[in-house]
Amino acid sequence: MNYTEIMVRYGELSTKGKNRRSFITQLAQNVKRALQDYPAVKIHADRDRMHLLLNGENGEEIIPKLEKVFGIQNFSPSIRVDKNMPAIRSMVQQIIKTVYQSGKTFKITTKRSDHSFELDSNELNQELGGAVFEVCPEINVQMRNPDINIRVEIRNEGAYLSYETIRGAGGLPVGTGGRGMLMLSGGIDSPVAGYLAMKRGVEIEAVHFASPPYTSEQALQKAKDLAAKIAPYAGSIQFIEVPFTEIQEEIKRVVPEGYLMTVTRRMMLRLTDEIRALRKGLVIINGESLGQVASQTLQSMVAINEVTSTPIIRPVVSMDKGEIIEIAEKIDTFELAIQPFEDCCTIFAPPQPKTRPKLEKAQAYEARLDVEGLIARSMAGLKVSEIADSTVQEEEFSDLL
Ligand code: ATP
Ligand code: MG
Repeated sequence: MNYTEIMVRYGELSTKGKNRRSFITQLAQNVKRALQDYPAVKIHADRDRMHLLLNGENGEEIIPKLEKVFGIQNFSPSIRVDKNMPAIRSMVQQIIKTVYQSGKTFKITTKRSDHSFELDSNELNQELGGAVFEVCPEINVQMRNPDINIRVEIRNEGAYLSYETIRGAGGLPVGTGGRGMLMLSGGIDSPVAGYLAMKRGVEIEAVHFASPPYTSEQALQKAKDLAAKIAPYAGSIQFIEVPFTEIQEEIKRVVPEGYLMTVTRRMMLRLTDEIRALRKGLVIINGESLGQVASQTLQSMVAINEVTSTPIIRPVVSMDKGEIIEIAEKIDTFELAIQPFEDCCTIFAPPQPKTRPKLEKAQAYEARLDVEGLIARSMAGLKVSEIADSTVQEEEFSDLL
């Protein structure tokens, strides 16, 4: 179909009272960014709806982009025709010929904002229903939940017809909720955690710990590819690579096996928090899920979390693995995540980390490390790049820090 416009219905923002204006402005900005390859599209955002005038751009290509913009409940691509009955009838007939399959039911829903139009809504419904029967005599009308609902809106500028309502991504526009640092590994859970945080409006930057040569170039690339998979939900994501080799070697050297994991995580969290402060983030987001592995117990969280008072958001904390995988499949990160490149934790992790580490012991072992020096050297080696979409167009922006 040759769409001329897409009508966008807002999600939860309608309930947000005073914030509504800034939510709509942010959404319009995000839509614009998602459609940057379609510069002719004009965005008109009003209180209740957003209209995207396509101006010749390809609606079919734009639909999958819009499906990834949070803050949209649903949207309807529509076709504008001249405001006269022959043109409207003929388009209604074209639509029904395109979408009709045997046994399907339909109805016509009309709305007349231009009251000077020759027919009122009832007459329009009658007339256009008749047009449908002309080309599709066996079809049945059904007022409640028809399979095909052809909506016709008579506005001053023309008649707008639509017949499908496409579900949006829901949630809140990314950027309305402040910024958080996502601890992004190469696993299944953290990309899902990032996706869920973005869904509630949080803008994320990805922090990834790499320990070359123990971790491979492929492992790093995998984390970047995962970031690229979730980047379309945000427009782009800053990817911050943190050198972690020296820290892991030192921990391995001086900390007993049972506490390797706890101390490693404490160092990761400290670094993430420093980066957060530098990048003006408000919170930290990770992919911890309670009880999933030995290192993810409440006792473990206590022992790790102690290094910062910054709130840590754990979007998948209470989900079962199956539930997390379901989301990972939906956002297409699952296949990538199960590729077998080792990340830094797997390599240095003891076969059996303590499931109930004691905070005091973690602190005592950690005192054997030059924590400040290690952190300072790692911070001096950060690499930032921008990951724009699922094709991974990267640019190095090391001087941004
Ligand atoms: P994931 O599937 O996200 O890797 P996981 O179940 O493997 O999670 P852990 O390996 O215990 O769990 O890691 C817990 C969390 O710590 C991860 O979800 C992630 O947020 C963070 N994390 C672990 N390794 C890294 C890393 N190399 N870089 C950045 N964050 C990491
Ligand atoms: Mg992992």
